[in-house]
Formats: sequence, C-alpha cells, structure tokens
Amino acid sequence: MLNPKIQEAFNKQINAELFSEYLYLSMAAYFEAEGFKGMAQWMRMQADEERMHALKFYDYIYDRNGRVTLTQIEAPKTQWNSPLDAFEDAYKHEQKVSGLINELSNLALSEKDHMAHQFLEWFAGEQVEEESAALTIVDQLKLVGDHGMALYMIDQQLGQRQPPAAPGAT
Ligand code: MG
Repeated sequence: MLNPKIQEAFNKQINAELFSEYLYLSMAAYFEAEGFKGMAQWMRMQADEERMHALKFYDYIYDRNGRVTLTQIEAPKTQWNSPLDAFEDAYKHEQKVSGLINELSNLALSEKDHMAHQFLEWFAGEQVEEESAALTIVDQLKLVGDHGMALYMIDQQLGQRQPPAAPGAT
C-alpha cells in the first residue's frame, strides 16, 4: 500500500501535469490563431508529453496499490503578446514544475520511501531537458526580435518536432 502522504502528493502532481498539458494546448491554440503553425505543432507535442507525465504518476499509484483521485484543472491563460512572451511563460512554468518534482523527492526521502524516490529520478532528468528546451527557444526568439524572416525560420524549425515513438514500436 502506498504511503498516504505520497499518494496525496502524487495525486496533486497528476493535476499539475494535466494543467501543464492544458497550458501548452492553450499556447498551441494561440500560435495557431497567429499563423505560427510550427510553434503550434511544437506546443501540441509538448502537451502530449505532459499527458504522458500525468499517466506515469497514474500508473505508478496503481503499481503501488494506491488510489487515483482526479480534481478540477485550473483554466490556463489564453493570450500572449508574442512568441517570446509565450515561450518565456513556458520556461517559467517548467522551472515551477522542477520545484514541484524537487519537493516530491524531498517528501519521498523524509518518508523513507526509496522506491518512490527512485521513480522520481526519471522526472528530475526530464525537467533538466524541459527547462533546457524552453530556454533554448527563448534565447533564439530574443536573438531575432521581430525580424519576420527569422521568426518564420524558427517556426519552420519548431514544426519539425515529431511525436515520441509509441512504446514498443520499432
Ligand atoms: Mg511535465
């Protein structure tokens, strides 16, 4: 049976990951409306990844004989001033999520749940990649400013992001 404190915290994290999915889908909708098809595609892939994160916690709770309880998901922001504004928000959001993963790891250690701590290590590595990916795009967007041709090229490049391969598919 999963430690009740860990179960409660992991259920909260499911909500946070589903909020991330919702936030990135909202950013995709903004980019779609602004004609940045590539950035919209990138954000949709990001939203899919967040759903996968939520499901990892979901499956883990049941692997440990716990119980998932879903709660209301907060409404995301729907409008940004520019691609840079949106990606800066994405970067800030990932920094916040990294903090949440750190807190979960602290809890797992204080509860002496080394199995849960080991499960969280995957997320710790993932957060390093998430922050780095968002910051790289923020830096590129800062570099080009409002130069239309360069923005177009970044949009094309981000549109090449592919969905992750389905598990077991080779
Ligand atoms: Mg996530």
